[in-house]
Amino acid sequence: MLVDFHTHTTASDGTFTPQQLVDEMQKKTIEYFSITDHDTIDGVKAIKHIPHGVQFITGVEISAEFPKTLHILGYGFDPDNQELNDSLDELQAFRKNRNAQMIEKMKEIGFEITMDELIREAGSDLVGRPHFANLFLNKGYCKSYQEAFDKYLKKGAPLYMNKKRLAPDKAIELIHKAGGIAVMAHPYQTKLEGEALKGLVEQLVSCGLDGIEVYYSQHTLEQVDDYQKIALKYNLMATAGSDFHGSNKPDIPLGMYLSDTDIAEFISFVQEKARDEHG
Ligand code: AMP
Ligand code: ZN
Ligand code: FE
Ligand code: FE
Repeated sequence: MLVDFHTHTTASDGTFTPQQLVDEMQKKTIEYFSITDHDTIDGVKAIKHIPHGVQFITGVEISAEFPKTLHILGYGFDPDNQELNDSLDELQAFRKNRNAQMIEKMKEIGFEITMDELIREAGSDLVGRPHFANLFLNKGYCKSYQEAFDKYLKKGAPLYMNKKRLAPDKAIELIHKAGGIAVMAHPYQTKLEGEALKGLVEQLVSCGLDGIEVYYSQHTLEQVDDYQKIALKYNLMATAGSDFHGSNKPDIPLGMYLSDTDIAEFISFVQEKARDEHG
């Protein structure tokens, strides 16, 4: 089966609008999918029409406090839940402020970037570092997208500014309160393995973690094997996603091929949610 439960739209740092992405899913004959923008559900809310033959579940990818990268995916929540919307709005407000400060820092080193240009580049007012990187490239301040990050934008680089993140337990709680399930995204990005990774998973399980993204476009076969074992050991649902960003990450195509048994429990959850919705 073809699925994709990890995708980004113009509501965060993807290049497809939510509706374009939905249409692309149908074109690619993807049966089940979600939209999981960074710290926002604006893209999920923007979808007006799901074509026949495609099953959709609400999604979000929350950046959690952690020394390296820890992203918590939420699925199947009520997109109108007040507390979820308030918390995500707060993160976005902080981000806007941070972007304004980054523009000031850029002026100091002679990079002329305006908020209007960023918004045009992003296709919405949700601006992130990838949009800065694209403008650096377009304006000739850098020779490549990656150079923009390596020289200026990566954590610890001169133009980097931290963003507000939720504590992992808060992120899980927020998703649960909105009726959804919480899944650890791309475990390899934590830079932990073996017992250290198990320790983190155990901690998250004690906070109510429901699943782990075993199948991910950038995981090696060995990593998939490790994460399958972790899913089994801690009774976590396995999920699957590409982390599609359109032309912002051109090496990642949309869709993941899996056998029905790989993510059976999660598919049941998606179907159950769809049934609930249609009464
Ligand atoms: P932001 O949310 O504004 O901090 O931007 C985060 C996004 O920047 C991530 O989703 C990645 O797409 C991109 N990113 C972060 N670090 C790097 C890096 N070192 N190299 C390339 N892209 C990166
Ligand atoms: Zn992203
Ligand atoms: Fe992520
Ligand atoms: Fe992602």
